[in-house]
Amino acid sequence: MQNAVPGGALSSSVLVLNRFYLAVHVVSARRAFVLLYRDSAEVIHIENGQYANYDFESWCEVSGQWSPARSAEQASRSAEQDWVRAARFDIQVPRIIRLIRFERVPRQALRFNRRNLFARDGHACQYCGTTYPASQLSLDHVVPRSRGGETSWENVVCSCVACNTKKGGRTPVEARMKLLRQPAKPRQNPQLALKLGNPKYESWRSFLPGGGVSLDVG
Ligand SMILES: [Zn+2]
Repeated sequence: MQNAVPGGALSSSVLVLNRFYLAVHVVSARRAFVLLYRDSAEVIHIENGQYANYDFESWCEVSGQWSPARSAEQASRSAEQDWVRAARFDIQVPRIIRLIRFERVPRQALRFNRRNLFARDGHACQYCGTTYPASQLSLDHVVPRSRGGETSWENVVCSCVACNTKKGGRTPVEARMKLLRQPAKPRQNPQLALKLGNPKYESWRSFLPGGGVSLDVG
């Protein structure tokens, strides 16, 4: 298969549900096609508020009929879809697949790391509120490590270098600096939340409850 869309339809993201329709994972389209081809998963496609299940063969068949190459009407309908071109036909990249073989998939814990912390805080310094690129941000221990402050979701925030320097080894009260909000462990993967801002992934919302799901975006 090759990419019909320059920029990589095969690297777009696909939400993975377990047998019980619970969101468990996010994978690349390339990985999703491998799972579909092996009959380990089926496509869940939402159309007019209803969802339909397709195995790989029937997905190739129906999505081939929707191919933007077939007509102008199809092309406009397909504006928000990604396509890959196989030898003789086009296949739409699914947005959601469901695992059909595995009873259980271990739920991945939300990793505590810089990338997720920056995403949680929206790349904004939690003292002055200014937004910076990741390269210009640092992490601040609200209660300093020298005072027994933990390295945890509840005690580490995104901070600009100026605020970090100003605060020094003091608590916010001592430094007279106020946090924009109390830091906490996000209820869902903050990078997933960023993806949900993209209309491409609108259909994922049906399978993501407000809380409780912690997904690792691969
Ligand atoms: Zn700042």
